[in-house]
Amino acid sequence: MLNREEALNIYKKRNAYLKGHFKLSSGLHSEYYLQSALVLQYPHDAWQLCSSVAEHFRGMKIDVVVAPAMGGILVSYDVARALGNSIRSIFAERVDGKLTLRRGFNISEDDNVLIVEDVVTTGKSVKETIDLVKRYSEHIVGVGALVDRGGSFNTNSIDYFALIKLDITNYEPDDCPLCKRGIPLEKPGSRFIKR
Ligand SMILES: [Zn+2]
Repeated sequence: MLNREEALNIYKKRNAYLKGHFKLSSGLHSEYYLQSALVLQYPHDAWQLCSSVAEHFRGMKIDVVVAPAMGGILVSYDVARALGNSIRSIFAERVDGKLTLRRGFNISEDDNVLIVEDVVTTGKSVKETIDLVKRYSEHIVGVGALVDRGGSFNTNSIDYFALIKLDITNYEPDDCPLCKRGIPLEKPGSRFIKR
């Protein structure tokens, strides 16, 4: 099982933990950006990280692992694989902006559900996934993540474990010190796209 430093070092090694001036999907600005896809493209790295998240939930009764698409899909897959033979891995995807189970995926009312995500910032997608799962089953055993950026996410009564906990400040665009210093704003992912 990886500890926090070892896990963060994998992100650094794969250039997936970037310093600069980024616009997050929430609209907030930040000095740091995490691109899990760059780590998860290496199946061995993905396995090390996800099996370390799974360790936190080992021994709990889990039938299905659910993630919001896209970022969580591979995390769900490897966490489920690490947890045991008959555990399913499914994902929710957006239809007209709302998270939905498609492709014949289903959760029965008796299923014990673990929710996972790659990077949690505000926790908005995770909260939406919790709301979606509750329409099927009341048995949510926990929420697991590779990274918590240090947002205000709180699951109240649900067990929440993030392998890498960071304390990254996000700024409102109107109140961003990086903007004030004139540092060019990058959109996440844009530096990886050839133009
Ligand atoms: Zn800014």
